[in-house]
Amino acid sequence: MTDYRDMWEKLGIDLEAHDGLLEVLPPIYEEHILSQENRPEGMGYFDFVFSEVHGLRIQELVEHKRKGGIVAGTFCTYVPEELIVAANGICVGLCSGADVAIDEAEKYLPRNLCSLIKSSLGFKLAKVCPYIESCDLLVGEATCDGKKKYYEILGQLQPLHLMEVPQMKLAHDVELWRSEVRRLLTRLEELIGRKIQEEELREAVSLINEKRRALLRLEGLRKSDPPLISGRDALLVSQIAFYDDPRRLIDKVGSLCDELEERKKRSEYIGGAHRPRILLSGCPMALPNWKVATLIETSGAVVAMDEMCTGIRYFDNLVDEEAQGMEGLLDAIAARYLKIHCSIFTPNQERLEHISELVEDYDIDAVVYYALQFCDPYTIEAFRVQQALEREGIPFLYLETDYSSEDVGQLSTRIQALIEMVAARDKT
Ligand code: SF4
Ligand code: SF4
Repeated sequence: MTDYRDMWEKLGIDLEAHDGLLEVLPPIYEEHILSQENRPEGMGYFDFVFSEVHGLRIQELVEHKRKGGIVAGTFCTYVPEELIVAANGICVGLCSGADVAIDEAEKYLPRNLCSLIKSSLGFKLAKVCPYIESCDLLVGEATCDGKKKYYEILGQLQPLHLMEVPQMKLAHDVELWRSEVRRLLTRLEELIGRKIQEEELREAVSLINEKRRALLRLEGLRKSDPPLISGRDALLVSQIAFYDDPRRLIDKVGSLCDELEERKKRSEYIGGAHRPRILLSGCPMALPNWKVATLIETSGAVVAMDEMCTGIRYFDNLVDEEAQGMEGLLDAIAARYLKIHCSIFTPNQERLEHISELVEDYDIDAVVYYALQFCDPYTIEAFRVQQALEREGIPFLYLETDYSSEDVGQLSTRIQALIEMVAARDKT
């Protein structure tokens, strides 16, 4: 095993606290991911990437910086990855999915704030995240209230550029968002000390579109009933896509899809039989947050689709590669990102319509709505999602939770009741 301690120390990591983190991750991974049966061989690559989550990939970031490249960290699918790549940058997702140093974070933040924000600050304060410590720039976005006020604190600890994300999608909001995309480009140009060329941006657009196409191909294979891949494995692929090298990820997702297509020809499924098909919808599930997906899948159902920012919202819709000139490309990038139906928007009819389309396309039996406690946008929007699904006769289960495991028993009981009800309906 390679010893990365010297590298972590140079990044300013607290080695003792970091050792503690690295000790708890393998058993969590074993419980949620490795314990699944009949996984595709192609998942071996993603298991390897996770096992090297703070090792090999960080070494690549360090090497990239040594050669003059930059690393930029983001917390939201609204930040255009293409711009960072065009600036010879590596883009890494920084949202965290585990409780770390929450007591410390609560010295800066109120207790009644979502786990995602508190744990993101916890990782920074505890000095246990080599990704954030590798970043030359953090790119935040004014989406929910919690995040935008959190960025004021984070910006005191590390250079941070904040993008203003509109809350509606009217003509002047589109203009505002377009100007914010341009402002990020300018900030990146200042950071690298030169202008980004149209050809660089065009190549970046093409690369990130290719990544989206690969992930969309995998999503298409999730339509299979019986399932070819578990929801947890699909979620893991998506979580890793936030920080892995895009070109390598495209290859590996491609190989995984080839394997799944071969398995389909041989009628080789992960369980061999139909099982209730669940759409998981709501807040993002950042690595290593698999709690709810595991509870669903160990209760006899499959997560057949995710309507989350760690799912389809991350890679749906492509940037128009035919756009003309630098300004045309920026327009096309802005237009693509404004199609993400985050619940910070109002009105947000498009999200309801998207959920209905997914329910139909993926032959969904029930929707499990996952909301993090104290997340106003998603907890409040649950009402309208439920209304829309009830009109269509789709069972809906609302779960409000956090990163702790204290509520596992209670969540499990409610999920099992839903799945038994759906399974009984299937039989009639
Ligand atoms: S849910 Fe909204 S704020 Fe959160 S990552 Fe997605 S787009 Fe960004
Ligand atoms: S989960 Fe909700 S409250 Fe938390 S950062 Fe995302 S949108 Fe904001």
